[in-house]
Amino acid sequence: MLVGLKEILKIAEADKNAVGMFNGTGFDSIRAVIEAAEELNRPVIIGHAEVHNVYSDISIVGAAMLAAAKAAKVPVCVHLDHGVTLEMCYRALRIGFTGIMIDASALPYEENLAVTRQVTEAAHAMGADVEAELGKLSTPEAGSTDCGSPTKPEDFYTDPDEAREFCEKTGIDALAVAFGTAHGFYKSQPKLDFSVVRNCAASTGIPLVMHGGSGVSPDGFRQAIAAGIRKINYYSYMSKAGYEAAARCIAAGSTKYLHDVEFAAYQAMKEDAKQAIRMFSGE
Ligand SMILES: [Zn+2]
Repeated sequence: MLVGLKEILKIAEADKNAVGMFNGTGFDSIRAVIEAAEELNRPVIIGHAEVHNVYSDISIVGAAMLAAAKAAKVPVCVHLDHGVTLEMCYRALRIGFTGIMIDASALPYEENLAVTRQVTEAAHAMGADVEAELGKLSTPEAGSTDCGSPTKPEDFYTDPDEAREFCEKTGIDALAVAFGTAHGFYKSQPKLDFSVVRNCAASTGIPLVMHGGSGVSPDGFRQAIAAGIRKINYYSYMSKAGYEAAARCIAAGSTKYLHDVEFAAYQAMKEDAKQAIRMFSGE
C-alpha cells in the first residue's frame, strides 16, 4: 500500500530501527525492492533520484513505482531522492509521490532554508512529506563513480543548533545529516561521527536520514540507528550486485536474450535488498 514518508518513518521510530530507501532506476530494480520488502514483511521506500532522470523520466519510472507501491502487501513510500530543481519537486508532487527530498544543501544556509520552506509548503498542501539536507556529503548522488576522500569532511558535518532552527523554520518531516558517509563506493571504511547524529536527534526531534549507506559495516548501521537514524539510503551495492549478475550471465554465453540478463540482475538485486532490509531492521 502507498503511504507517506512521515507515516513510514513512524513505523521505524516505533520499531527503533530504520527503513531502507532504494533507488528504482527501472522495472527490474523496482520489482526487486518491493518484492524484497514483501518477502520480509517490512515497509520500504522506493526512490527516484533526479540525477537518474536521464535514464528513465519520472513520468514513466515514477508511474511504475506508484503502481507497484499501491499493489504492494507492505507499506511503501514513493520518494523523490535528491530533488535539486523546483521543477522536479513539483513534477513528483503532481504525479503523486508521497515523499520529496529537496536537496538545496549546496546553497548557502539562508537560501537552503528558503527553498526548503517553499517546497515543504507545497508538499504539505498536496499531502506529501519532505526530507531536506543540512551539512554536506562529500560526494553527490551519482551511483556510478568512486567517491574521493575530502580533505576535511568534518567541516561539513551537520551542526545540531543550526539543524534545530532549520527544522523549526522549514517545517520538514525528516532531515538528512552529514556525519561521515559519502555516496557511491567507499575506498576504505568510512569514519562516522555518531555524536553528530545523537545531538541532531536531540535538537530537532524529527527522524534523521543517512545517505551513502552502501559499504557501511553492519556495526556502523547498528550504531547509526541507535543514535537516531530512521531512514537509510542504499543503492550503489544493490546496483553493483545486479551489474555483476548480468556480467556473469553474459560471460556464461548461454543466452542471446536481454531479458535473461535482466532477470539475473533482478534476482541478484532482490537478494541484496533483502540483506540490507534485514540489517536495517536490526536482524
Ligand atoms: Zn543521497
